[in-house]
Amino acid sequence: MKKRILTGDRPTGPLHLGHYFGALKDRVALQDEYDTFVIIADVQALTDNFNDPKKVRDNVYQVTMDNLAVGIDPEKSTIFIQSMIPQIAELTIFYANLVTIARLQRNPTVKEEIAQKKELFKESVTYGFLGYPISQAADITVFGAHLVPVGEDQLPQIEQTREIVRKFNHIYGAILVEPEPKIGEVPRLKGLDGSAKMSKSLNNTIDLGDEPETISKKVMKAITDPAKVRLNDAGHPEVCCVFYYHKLFSKDVCTGISEECKKGDRGCVQCKKELAKNIIEYLTPIRERRRYYEARPKEVEEILRVGTRRAYEAAAITLQQVKEKMFLDY
Ligand code: ATP
Ligand code: MG
Repeated sequence: MKKRILTGDRPTGPLHLGHYFGALKDRVALQDEYDTFVIIADVQALTDNFNDPKKVRDNVYQVTMDNLAVGIDPEKSTIFIQSMIPQIAELTIFYANLVTIARLQRNPTVKEEIAQKKELFKESVTYGFLGYPISQAADITVFGAHLVPVGEDQLPQIEQTREIVRKFNHIYGAILVEPEPKIGEVPRLKGLDGSAKMSKSLNNTIDLGDEPETISKKVMKAITDPAKVRLNDAGHPEVCCVFYYHKLFSKDVCTGISEECKKGDRGCVQCKKELAKNIIEYLTPIRERRRYYEARPKEVEEILRVGTRRAYEAAAITLQQVKEKMFLDY
């Protein structure tokens, strides 16, 4: 039997380059070696989008198409909808007894996210949002996943999952698998605005399905070295967001780009145009596959239906074992 992977995304918006280099690329590369489950985490998306359920619903299909576009093969991997697996909700309730409020409040990623969502949570965060790492532990363990390809921001969540597993196994009996994280090629891709993380919520992304013109426009607005005002000013590539992306998309020529920039032989407009061209080229096969699925919504729905059925069966087996261990097998 192959070992398992659980990985996935929140259907809060289309996926972008951060997802690709943080998690999707590994997800695709590992799907032959591992029995891969890709969760479309709609329940988790609702924790901070409870007032916009239609947005979450629409993005379930968008995020599914993004996964198919980058090369997740539904013949090899199981793509499923989280809310259709009630065993995850049940496990979440059982695990909630194993985690203290202080522990949840200590999670640095959740802390950062709560700070970003001041407008939504005002004076106090919801129980659901604070507790989402518990439901994430249920997502991972209900499939007995060994490996979880994620971006760096998710490491505290995996650590919390491992703690829950150890506590559960200690109290009720050793049946849960303790998962390992797998960080992608770029642990945390910066945004085009230079901010620490490219994120759906920060409006600083290049989406995997963006049209070439959109990519060009976004790249032209990217932040460069503020000290380089005129074309012939010497630049500092190490602080330039455009150069940061050249290192990913123009690997073969990026040493030359850096030298030209430092000597003042390279203008930012030209530099951005070259970058946009390379990103557009890189994303072309992904964009084309995405357009294929966009034209075939029934095919996408069928992939989700088949995947969700398979995920349900796998989850039911774990829940049966959990209930036996907890004397809940009436
Ligand atoms: P949201 O703002 O709604 O949370 P998000 O952009 O953070 O959206 P998620 O769906 O939460 O996206 O993340 C899905 C996966 O992609 C996670 O494993 C996450 O770590 C990874 N990821 C997201 N953004 C980046 C990034 N900029 N760099 C590396 N990995 C990322
Ligand atoms: Mg996120």
